[in-house]
Amino acid sequence: LLRIEAAAKRFGAHAAVDGVSLDLAAGEFFCLLGPSGCGKSTLLRLVAGFESLDAGRILLEGEDLASLPPHRRPVNMMFQSYALFPHLSVAGNLAYGLKGLGLSRTEIAGRIEKLLGLVRLDGLGGRRPDTLSGGQRQRVALARALAREPKVLLLDEPLGALDRSLREETQGELRALQRRLGAAFVVVTHDPAEAMALADRIGVMEAGRLVQCGSAAALYERPASRYVAGLLGDVN
Ligand code: ATP
Ligand code: MG
Repeated sequence: LLRIEAAAKRFGAHAAVDGVSLDLAAGEFFCLLGPSGCGKSTLLRLVAGFESLDAGRILLEGEDLASLPPHRRPVNMMFQSYALFPHLSVAGNLAYGLKGLGLSRTEIAGRIEKLLGLVRLDGLGGRRPDTLSGGQRQRVALARALAREPKVLLLDEPLGALDRSLREETQGELRALQRRLGAAFVVVTHDPAEAMALADRIGVMEAGRLVQCGSAAALYERPASRYVAGLLGDVN
């Protein structure tokens, strides 16, 4: 479905993403682990089209994504900080995600209803983000990212701001939602246990490179680096 070929991005002299290649299957749940600053968010931003590649290609179903502007890509991103619009209601935030699709007012209202149901926020469309709990805000951000029914959804630490119990509850929901939608999810997380619990495959980045990619069991049994060994070893 998604093919990343030797993607590279530098900021000044610093190679943030340094020749990453990855094939993602339709319906796959892929988790991306790695230390802070290793390039996870930058890789997601490249796929979403918010940064331009210095080298390499990113193809979706064989089509080069560079030829499509971000809002035309069948790819969407949920940001580390949620990035909700504080002056818009929940419904307004979701409507923003549906902009430019040429939908009528009634169609938009219908889609918003459906999205709210999907993330279990029925009836909260009129609320402002600052009147919601952290977990509810996270669901609004998720619903907004799902609004265009992307084939690939990129989630940058979607559960990072949640406390432990809410997080575990939401992990299962995220996985169930992904199965139901049949979309491919790429989820950045700092939590190896979360990756092991959720992912079909885990990728580990270090210093801009994807150092290993495989099932949790494969990474655990044959870690490619000391870092990978430490990461998954701690969980068990
Ligand atoms: P974290 O886990 O802390 O979110 P990350 O793996 O997502 O880290 P990135 O945000 O991708 O890391 O950043 C990778 C490197 O690129 C870092 O050294 C960062 O300082 C640098 N970087 C990212 N964006 C920019 C930018 N717009 N300008 C300059 N440097 C940047
Ligand atoms: Mg990041």
